[in-house]
Amino acid sequence: MKRLAILGSTGSIGQNTLSVVAEHPQEFMVVSLAAGQNTALLAEQIEQFRPRVVSVQDEAAAARLKELTPPSLAAEILFGPEGAVAAATAPGADLVVSAMVGAVGLEPTLAAVDAGIPVALANKETLVAAGSLVMALARTRGVPLIPVDSEHSAIFQAIQGQRREDIRKLWLTASGGPFRTWEPARLGEVTAAEALRHPNWSMGPKITIDSATMMNKALEVIEASVLFGLPVDKVGVYIHPQSIVHSLVEFVDGSVLAQLGAPDMRLPIAYALTYPRRLPLNGPPLDLGRIGRLTFEEPDMERFPGLRLGYEAACTGGTMPAVLNAANEVAVAAFLEGRIKFPDIPRVVAETMAAHAPRPLESLEQVLGVNRWARDFAAELVTNQRR
Ligand code: MG
Repeated sequence: MKRLAILGSTGSIGQNTLSVVAEHPQEFMVVSLAAGQNTALLAEQIEQFRPRVVSVQDEAAAARLKELTPPSLAAEILFGPEGAVAAATAPGADLVVSAMVGAVGLEPTLAAVDAGIPVALANKETLVAAGSLVMALARTRGVPLIPVDSEHSAIFQAIQGQRREDIRKLWLTASGGPFRTWEPARLGEVTAAEALRHPNWSMGPKITIDSATMMNKALEVIEASVLFGLPVDKVGVYIHPQSIVHSLVEFVDGSVLAQLGAPDMRLPIAYALTYPRRLPLNGPPLDLGRIGRLTFEEPDMERFPGLRLGYEAACTGGTMPAVLNAANEVAVAAFLEGRIKFPDIPRVVAETMAAHAPRPLESLEQVLGVNRWARDFAAELVTNQRR
């Protein structure tokens, strides 16, 4: 029986994780849950999975949750960054599922690693903003970081039993999002509703917009470079609109191994939960005969400047990826609120990066400080771009 701490339990990854848990109740126990503001769903999850420790974003949400949770369930209800850290390091946890959205996931994830608890990592911002710090701490504590992101899970699966020095290049696949074939001139008129309609995956709003700008792939390129310890020029991207091949690994002999599957997040989640074992999962089998055709193409960096910015940030290194990530979080939120246009998202990120003097990564406090600076700077740009 594996005891899970699930950070971000009401988000898309969190809900899929709990659906895997519900499908295999003999395999898992939930010791803690952390979420943001969705107290109604969290209350249902508490009733179903009976965690001992629960945390939400702020005091007001904690008060709402207390009203919804009968005392008989005996859940300790906490809030804020300290609450998230307490949930991440809850007594008895064997595995932390780190699936909060954005840089807020950084602190609790680092706390889990510091406490020696293995992490199933879905929060890509942790490795983007503080990659070398997290990896160094994980090495010191001997803590495994198992990727949940479908692309990184695919690579992780493809390199099992392989030698790191035999890897020539990693290839991440990207669906290209809903605007892959649009004329660049039309992108200025894209609405939030259009950008939220992902062709293949059902995900939360932040990552869906990131997929439409391909900033998601930019974050994933940085994440892959950090996680697998390869320079960023050894991480390539193919547009693969069918989202069946989740990523590929090219070896020095020219052989390429790929992992395929239906676009269903339960697969990489379940693999991370029970690695190296595999759990049987309900779901239709992958019917390649019916799919018929898998296609691949080079990404268009003009149409998707976000991807180019990702490579630039990774090449610069240090604090620059944290700046890219923070500016993007602010820009995406502003776009969803209708405050800026779609092409303004990479513009805000580029201008924030241009204003930043990067430094080598030193500490969590430094990363959090850079994160705050970049958020403030990007917010200022958003205000000034309003017309
Ligand atoms: Mg992904």
